[in-house]
Amino acid sequence: MTFHRIPHFESRNGKLHFLGSPRIFQTLSKDEEILWNLLKSPKTWNVISQTFGKDARGMVERLKSLGVIVEIQPKRSKKGGPILVLEPHHDDAALSLGAWLLARRKRPLRILTATSRYISTTLLETGRRRVLSVEQVSELRLTEGRLAGRILGAASTSLPHPDAPLRYCRNPEKLHRVSEERFSGEYERSISENLLRNSKTEAIELARQILRRMTADSTTLLAPMGIGAHPDHLWVRNAALSLLLDSKVPEVGLYEDQPYAMTRPGHRSRLIQALTESGLRVRVEESKVGSRHRAKRNLLCVYASQWKIDSITDQLGLGPESIERIVWVRRGKSQQPTSDLGTLLEHLLELELEKIVGSDPMAWLEQLGRDQEIQIYLFHDLRYAKTLAHHPLLESTGNKIRFHIMGTKPIVGTQTQFHESETDMMLSVEQSTANHPVVVISNAYRLWENLSELGLRAGSLLAARNAGDLLKLFTFRENRERPKP
Ligand SMILES: [Zn+2]
Repeated sequence: MTFHRIPHFESRNGKLHFLGSPRIFQTLSKDEEILWNLLKSPKTWNVISQTFGKDARGMVERLKSLGVIVEIQPKRSKKGGPILVLEPHHDDAALSLGAWLLARRKRPLRILTATSRYISTTLLETGRRRVLSVEQVSELRLTEGRLAGRILGAASTSLPHPDAPLRYCRNPEKLHRVSEERFSGEYERSISENLLRNSKTEAIELARQILRRMTADSTTLLAPMGIGAHPDHLWVRNAALSLLLDSKVPEVGLYEDQPYAMTRPGHRSRLIQALTESGLRVRVEESKVGSRHRAKRNLLCVYASQWKIDSITDQLGLGPESIERIVWVRRGKSQQPTSDLGTLLEHLLELELEKIVGSDPMAWLEQLGRDQEIQIYLFHDLRYAKTLAHHPLLESTGNKIRFHIMGTKPIVGTQTQFHESETDMMLSVEQSTANHPVVVISNAYRLWENLSELGLRAGSLLAARNAGDLLKLFTFRENRERPKP
């Protein structure tokens, strides 16, 4: 086995810094610093243990637990049928299927990433002083993908597409230079506005590109389920379904997208329902991560541009008991009609988005009656809050509206109360669901995330969802379904 540094850290006077940050990530001991310098190029265990003797194991384990070095086993022989894993971004296969793939390390394995141009890194969340350019982020994520491929014993390749924010933003190359507020606005808009677009043509084109890279007929094909409805994940899944419906592959394994699945309860069963209703045959495979949880953690360390290792393993609840899921999908028996791609995709979209949420908050508010106190939760959208607050319908019913808005500055000057602080908001969710109607309004892409943010801190909100009329969930399509004052 060999040990490799991950490409995100540098040592300055024995102190590790993350991606050029002035903050000290970790101080190394004298010996650890020597080991770090030795690992400028990958080293075998023999070299390390000869250099450090009985201390070698402890030092290697500490650097591994910090997530700054990873261990790679050699892959000598290949046995079994070939596997091709499609992933939207460098990291999706490892997050969702890491242990499943490690268990099949001996098989001829390939990972094909649909995108290779990006702007997002964890630096965006920690202030924007030293944000990397598209070129820098893309290069870094490509390196991460290659390193993860070696840990998995897989060949990694990627298609040249930009990811969704870059595909849909007007001036993607300038994104790393704009203010944080403008960046988030552009980013969110680019995704949510394109979520509900007609996706059939794009899926077919991507399927063609994938097909050109499939060498053997016997290849087992895996793709994401699209849990969380990220446009790139849906795009790759739809391409895989297109290959299935076109009889290019006999079966597709749709893996449950992590970490999205942790906060989207019910999405998987809706997907299975839609696939079955469309005449496809579905079989669910669940496998426990088991003793491979440490190896999966080692694998996830390489994607440091996207997360801090402890926060992602916490989020995944990564341990022996955590589960990776694949929904295997086949065409139905010949006498059963199987949908064409367009109908299938429409059915999936309908089930995934439209049925979870209503699209007309005003119609519901109209039915609410008068003289009540209504709680409206909004996410990151002041303009929409203002529009709602002054809507004649609300003004005429005499209902008292309390707006709770996340991540924004307070609004003043209306008769409506605005609560902008996140802590206030969580507290009031707890109190208000008991007595007052609650409306959550969010854009489609963020809906599940927003709900889980509320749900995780205020269990009563999600419980109230099933408790009748106290809570209604609404979403709107950007710029299209906003009420006109
Ligand atoms: Zn992804």
